[in-house]
Amino acid sequence: MGIRIDGQRLRRDLEELGRIGRDERGGVSRPSFSPADLEARAWLRSKIEGAGLCYRQDGAGNQFGRLECVPRTVMAGSHIDTVPNGGMFDGAAGVLAALEAARRIVEEKVPLRKAIEVASFTDEEGNLVGDFLGSRAFLGLLDEKEVRGGRTSFGLPFAEVLEATEFTADTILAAHRSRPDLEAYLELHIEQGPVLEEEGVPIGVVERIAGKHYRQCAFIGEPGHAGTTPLELRRDAFLGLADFALRATQLVATRHYGSVITVGKAALHPGSFSVIPGRADFTLEFRSASPEALAAIEKDVFGLAEDIASTRGLRFVSKVVDRTAPVAVAPRLVGLLEEECRSLGYGSMRMASGAGHDAQVLAGACEAGMIFVPSPDGVSHSPGERVDWDALEKGANLLLRALIRMGSNL
Ligand SMILES: [Zn+2]
Repeated sequence: MGIRIDGQRLRRDLEELGRIGRDERGGVSRPSFSPADLEARAWLRSKIEGAGLCYRQDGAGNQFGRLECVPRTVMAGSHIDTVPNGGMFDGAAGVLAALEAARRIVEEKVPLRKAIEVASFTDEEGNLVGDFLGSRAFLGLLDEKEVRGGRTSFGLPFAEVLEATEFTADTILAAHRSRPDLEAYLELHIEQGPVLEEEGVPIGVVERIAGKHYRQCAFIGEPGHAGTTPLELRRDAFLGLADFALRATQLVATRHYGSVITVGKAALHPGSFSVIPGRADFTLEFRSASPEALAAIEKDVFGLAEDIASTRGLRFVSKVVDRTAPVAVAPRLVGLLEEECRSLGYGSMRMASGAGHDAQVLAGACEAGMIFVPSPDGVSHSPGERVDWDALEKGANLLLRALIRMGSNL
């Protein structure tokens, strides 16, 4: 079939949505449930309805556009929320490519045996209470305590943020009850890394999505006078952290190639130029596409932290903040996407996703696959985020063809 998406229309949609929540520093700030996000939601609703799809929204604010027929559903989507001061393609490209694909199916009256549903999941970026609020709600995987009593990353109680919306903790926790009978979920997304651009390939077919382990940690020593405490008598918490950060990175680089580890945030206490740090608080996260590597890193890295603590007279403490398991994409979906790429004449390569996506949550309910399009210069989560329009059009055509094929099979 020669059906294609309308690349100009997709571009217009992305540019229009990209104007909602414009940040004066550049880029887009549209965290879920912010005034900008509420405006974007209303915009998306009108687009979904304008496409001739049946609009619905669940109790977690996930938005859907359904091309109705039978209960069995093939879903495609992503998210339209952004990190503060983010870009206009992370998430939005996937929702609007799915919308464009569904619109073409409606326009061409393509006969299908299954329902096609476009999805936009709430708060993928985790600005509210942990990553993937919407898709976790959709699967019934939320921690009730967090939803009822959690604080957002902006410091406000989540309950207070909800007051500006039509949603409550109860509707969020009940959202999964309206989930349709899902057969598969497809998500187009910008790569958020440099590989496709470097390789000169327009399409990445994701075969694995990395899992993540995120902890809040601290080395605890003893504060002391920076002038009078001899070096050999110090229990300097910062030196513990510095030693740990370097050696943990070396360890992951040498023993677990392809996995990554990051100390993203650190604070020294009491935090004065003349006082030896008595405590170093820091975040630690590591990611891997292999469950075995993730477990091995956990063991190796926390063993190292304990070793460093004991040789430096410190104490090491840590608390798990979040963990997600790596996901392998169903071989059937990888094969189907590759076949469609060949028939469209598009180059593609298999790759792993280092970033987390709603698709990895959806993989708990159905087969879930991902299509990556290049991120010029690997930039994402930044006002400088761009897209290669030609590659995006190819990715959207691939999504369209995959939806038609999956929607046609019995
Ligand atoms: Zn995203």
